[in-house]
Amino acid sequence: MKIEKFKNMEVLDFKSPASKSRMEETLKSVKKEFGKTYKAFIGGKWIDTKDKITSINPSNPSEVVGYVASCTKSEADMAFDAAWKAFESWKNTKATERASYLFKVAKLMEEKRYELDSWMVYEVGKNWTEADGDVAEAIDALNYYAREAIRYARGYKPYQIPGERNEVKYIPLGAGVVIPPWNFPVAILTAMTAAAIASGNTVLLKPASITSVIGAKVAEIFCEAGLPDGVFNFVPGSGSKLGDYLVENPKTRFIAFTGSKEVGLRINELAAKPNGQKWIKRVILEMGGKDAIVVDETADLDAAAEGIVVSAFGNQGQKCSACSRVIAVDSIYDELLKKVIDRSKKIKVGDPSNFENWMGPVSSDEAMNKIMKYIEIGKNEGKLVLGGKRIGNTGFFIEPTIFSEVKGSARIAQEEIFGPVLAFIRAKDFDEAVQIFNGTEYGLTGGAYTKRKDRIKRVKDEFHVGNLYINRKITGALIGVQPFGGFNMSGTDSKAGGRDYLLLFLQAKSIAERI
Ligand code: NAP
Ligand code: MG
Repeated sequence: MKIEKFKNMEVLDFKSPASKSRMEETLKSVKKEFGKTYKAFIGGKWIDTKDKITSINPSNPSEVVGYVASCTKSEADMAFDAAWKAFESWKNTKATERASYLFKVAKLMEEKRYELDSWMVYEVGKNWTEADGDVAEAIDALNYYAREAIRYARGYKPYQIPGERNEVKYIPLGAGVVIPPWNFPVAILTAMTAAAIASGNTVLLKPASITSVIGAKVAEIFCEAGLPDGVFNFVPGSGSKLGDYLVENPKTRFIAFTGSKEVGLRINELAAKPNGQKWIKRVILEMGGKDAIVVDETADLDAAAEGIVVSAFGNQGQKCSACSRVIAVDSIYDELLKKVIDRSKKIKVGDPSNFENWMGPVSSDEAMNKIMKYIEIGKNEGKLVLGGKRIGNTGFFIEPTIFSEVKGSARIAQEEIFGPVLAFIRAKDFDEAVQIFNGTEYGLTGGAYTKRKDRIKRVKDEFHVGNLYINRKITGALIGVQPFGGFNMSGTDSKAGGRDYLLLFLQAKSIAERI
């Protein structure tokens, strides 16, 4: 098999008339599919359940996007059996063959990218470009991890000593559970699944409930790629009920989770307790952030304002990498704030099936209520200088919201809100800005705008985050280019999309042979 050098997918430019009209057509045809029922996929068979998850359109919650099987213990047990059975042969399948399935999934996704984009517009309120970026990232992950699996399969040759042949090879772990969030419902779901499968493991995938139709669409693609039965199992269901069962289960060899700190820590704790299994469960956790951009007096303030607005309000602020704190030095604070407000005022909020709307709804009723609660808290912690209100009373739309004069220790500067809410913090100088930057329990993304070389060096040395960006936006990490993962309470620093990632799904066997 000839494999070309990895290259990132380009995101579609919907300003081009051909892409725009194709997307409009696809949105129409996808809408006709609303209200269908999707099954679980276990051991190569589509399986119905009594209860269903109802998934709605957050722009118009009375529209049901689809109904998805809600699995319980019995389906989970079936899936574990299927996954362990499949593991027996999948673990011995050549890496190049495993990779070829992933390349196939990637091709199919590319063919269906407008459909997947459209489902995301409807099921989770992404704008077209955000949705297509999500699909492009999924395709990148498939193409990258397929290549990585082949690289890891070579193992490595350690130092040799006389009279022995020594080698190290990597073997997979077993059957594991993949639990993604809803905010990158194609990319993260596909990426974690692809990494596990590429490395020779078998998977039970439990999608986030509010994006389980998109999960089902991806499951259909994995099924179409023709993986051996039981390698990929789609097991949708409630996080709190099914999730605990999957995590605590003695048949679980590993858990790959991306989501909130609260759920991640719970998984870490439950998985640590021995439950009759003979292994320590491998736990990979990617969690939240309270990401900041520091701006000093030498910065290009227009570029900074642009980077801040895109990072703070893209996907309605619902990115783990979203900028939720701006730390500006005193001398340029007011000028920068004004520029950010002016730019934010131009953002069009509304149903993203209309291309004009750059910001869509937040993902759910629950998310909206949580964000509105934080906006109330913010009114006592700072000065509301933009937004602060829900828009209309149908969809879950919230205005881009900015608070100024927020203290670094305020709740809205410490806790992850996961919505379009930005806190402006005043620092007396760059030293204080560094302190405020590092003054949260998280450490995911962050960055700085400055022209001073000595400060760029300090940013590189002192900003304690997994993904650091200088003089650019702090979102949109590219697979293979900016390996992604955070420090402290942001997770186990898994560096998804990097050369270390597949190692998390493997174990090394060291072999010494007397010769
Ligand atoms: P979440 O509420 O923690 O849910 C994530 C997943 O966990 C969902 O599939 C959920 O299922 C499931 N779950 C819930 N309770 C569970 C339990 N007790 N046991 C096992 N699984 C359980 O997070 P979210 O609201 O979907 O996503 C937003 C969060 O993800 C934010 O904190 C964001 O920062 C973080 N995130 C981090 C990264 C990163 O790379 N670090 C990337 C993206 C997002 P249900 O949907 O059925 O509840
Ligand atoms: Mg949640």
